[in-house]
Amino acid sequence: MPELPEVETIVRDIRPAIMGRLISGLVIRHTAFEHLMNTDPQTFYEHTVTQVITTVLRKGKYIILPLDNDAVIVLHLGMTGRILLEDVPDVPFDDRFTGYDYVDKHTHFMMELTDPAGEEDDVELHFNDVRLFGHIWLVPDAEDIANLPVPGLESLGTDALGIRLEEFVRIMSTKRKVKSVLLDQTKIAGVGNIYADEACFSAGVHPTRTGESLTKEETAKLWFAVKTVLKEGLKYRGSSTSDYTDASGESGSFQEHHRVYQKTGTPCTECGSIIERTKLSGRATHFCPSCQR
Ligand SMILES: [Zn+2]
Repeated sequence: MPELPEVETIVRDIRPAIMGRLISGLVIRHTAFEHLMNTDPQTFYEHTVTQVITTVLRKGKYIILPLDNDAVIVLHLGMTGRILLEDVPDVPFDDRFTGYDYVDKHTHFMMELTDPAGEEDDVELHFNDVRLFGHIWLVPDAEDIANLPVPGLESLGTDALGIRLEEFVRIMSTKRKVKSVLLDQTKIAGVGNIYADEACFSAGVHPTRTGESLTKEETAKLWFAVKTVLKEGLKYRGSSTSDYTDASGESGSFQEHHRVYQKTGTPCTECGSIIERTKLSGRATHFCPSCQR
């Protein structure tokens, strides 16, 4: 599942390519409005086509595209969603999406984006999703871009890259397990299974400890570790343990730098102990039994 570094990599890639672009064409396959969208194709079309994308924002794992008519498109990649930027082929628009020979059969939604100044070539933004757990929301008249009425987005906690130590300490003052808190998007936005496991390892904290059992020093170490592993993930353009690719279809390489995530049975890079795996709130959890106390 794409987490903060993967989504941020996509956002940084697509922002310069689609900011200021006019939505000149839209294709919504039946799979998109049956599984991914909160609105019918006609409503979506009326509020978006001919409008200009003013910027590209990220909040947690959500991608936010405000338009110049105050409508906002919000995208979430779910488990296997991908956003791909493609050059426009030399085929008439109406013929472009018939059959699956040009576009992948798992591409459910496409926007053609035109440079209003006519200087740059058109591009297409494709939403591809094998398992259809992603989402595409339309907010027709957004009053406040910081408070969009989108499930999950409304209740999102502070972004993990920007969270301050005082707030992190407050959030960790709980009987809940450390990893469960890290995964709780209403507390800290953007951390998923990979970066939660890597951050706990980096801080030397066992993921099943309760938040309140951490010393002041351990909490501070964990706070620093969360930010550090996320930045590392960004540096390597995300972790491609399963379907994730960037907007050019290229894999990230952070998986080559994982120290515990999916490393079960291999020696710890710090101490040589064998990395173990357990389940925590139904999620596979990887840790070093010696380094993490
Ligand atoms: Zn170790």
